Amino acid sequence: MSTTPANEPSFRDSVDMMFNRAAGLMDLPPGMMEKIRVANSTYIVRFGVKLRGEIMTFTGYRSVHSEHAEPVKGGIRYAMNVNQNEVEALAALMTYKCALVEVPFGGSKGGLCIDPTAWDEDELERITRRFAYELIKRDLIHPAQNVPAPDMGTGAREMAWIADAYKRIKNDDINARACVTGKPRNLGGIAGRVEATGRGVQYALQEFFRHKDDVEKAGMTGTLDGKRVIVQGLGNVGYHAAKFLEEEDGCTIIGIIERDGALVNEGGINVESVKQHIAETGGVTGFTGAEHVANGALVLENDCDILIPAALESTINLGNAERIKANLIIEAANGPVTAGADEILRKRGCVIIPDMYANAGGVTVSYFEWVKNLSHIRFGRMQRRHQESANNLLVDEIEAMTGKNFSPGKRDKMLQGPDELSLVRSGLDDTMRIAYQNMAEVWHAREHEGVDLRTAAFLISIDRVAQSYKSLGL
Ligand code: NAD
Repeated sequence: MSTTPANEPSFRDSVDMMFNRAAGLMDLPPGMMEKIRVANSTYIVRFGVKLRGEIMTFTGYRSVHSEHAEPVKGGIRYAMNVNQNEVEALAALMTYKCALVEVPFGGSKGGLCIDPTAWDEDELERITRRFAYELIKRDLIHPAQNVPAPDMGTGAREMAWIADAYKRIKNDDINARACVTGKPRNLGGIAGRVEATGRGVQYALQEFFRHKDDVEKAGMTGTLDGKRVIVQGLGNVGYHAAKFLEEEDGCTIIGIIERDGALVNEGGINVESVKQHIAETGGVTGFTGAEHVANGALVLENDCDILIPAALESTINLGNAERIKANLIIEAANGPVTAGADEILRKRGCVIIPDMYANAGGVTVSYFEWVKNLSHIRFGRMQRRHQESANNLLVDEIEAMTGKNFSPGKRDKMLQGPDELSLVRSGLDDTMRIAYQNMAEVWHAREHEGVDLRTAAFLISIDRVAQSYKSLGL
């Protein structure tokens, strides 16, 4: 695996450097810039849980970056290397991300230093409930103040435990379910949340390929069809992104990088089969449909059209940036390209679709889930059948006027009223399209000043956060 060189700035410094690059192009008072840049608070908790006959102590974090909009929002990560620096960087990215995609939340992030594979399900449940309790009693989990979601190492299962822990403590809160998003459907989750971040990556690429000039800047032509893709990390985000691109957009997945090495096959690797293999064996080793490369990080440097880092931060750094050949990188993970690597890649003409936009699908659909929980009704429930009968009338009328009938498949499609999943996908697609168009407009208008997509994204979000603070009277 690639290690980060000693001269590489920390993740938080890297985010700050990118922020400062944009801030230098803006005409905002230095005090306002500083207020936006810094994390408002970071809570560190150490708690004990009696497990396997011993008291085990765990360290957890919840950082709140900006409260210009509330609740603040951000995932909870379970990994051994979680630390203050990392959660603060991730919380800052959440602020900018929410502002960019017009989701009305401030930024937050949490993490627990734990190897989730080292504990069984019952143990993880006890640890999670105890961590949740520590955060709930300080209002760091709260439907109106701070709403976590899944991140690396956590999923719907952990969110269900957190939601239940909150409900038990605050059983008079009618909006209790809105205290966390990414829940299972039967506990107030929303259709399409599990796939949302990967789906957002797909929609982001689809929108990018609608902009011919931008595609040419990345040294490509045409559509997504036939593009050669390498993905790092086949977890929630990487799996869904790669699967949708392969199955729906005609991309060829020529490389998959995981913890235990990488798989390469120019002819294409079936994402679903690899996922199945990982589920059965715990890794990609032994998969028969591709060549296995033991030092997986080297595959980041292989020739491809689109590189999708979807695992963890700083994987493209000063140590390997010069050798990265992809002309288009979409940052599905948070912070996979360090500030130093970003500069090297930019100079070479590589187009980077930045994390704060590329992986915003998760928080966008989390926002829909939160709204659903507060409204206590499933999206589409009121209008679906109403819409269906209106469509029926229209289709009958067209058939009567033309004397021709639609084919049964088409007719069924035309009649359908929107259900929750189609509304979620439509809202997410719209969000990803509009945010890209906003970024591209700034990119094109200010390219002569060195503005790229990332700086454009920062310019938009910093401005929006500053406007909020100004309206609040700060
Ligand atoms: P996950 O835990 O589901 O998946 C991470 C995957 O990366 C796993 O398959 C893991 O084995 C692999 N991995 C870990 N270390 C690796 C390494 N050194 N090399 C190659 N592969 C490695 O996590 P996720 O939820 O998919 O999150 C991935 C990234 O996306 C993180 O940066 C996260 O912050 C970001 N993100 C996630 C969401 C979400 O909704 N889950 C939303 C926005 C951003």
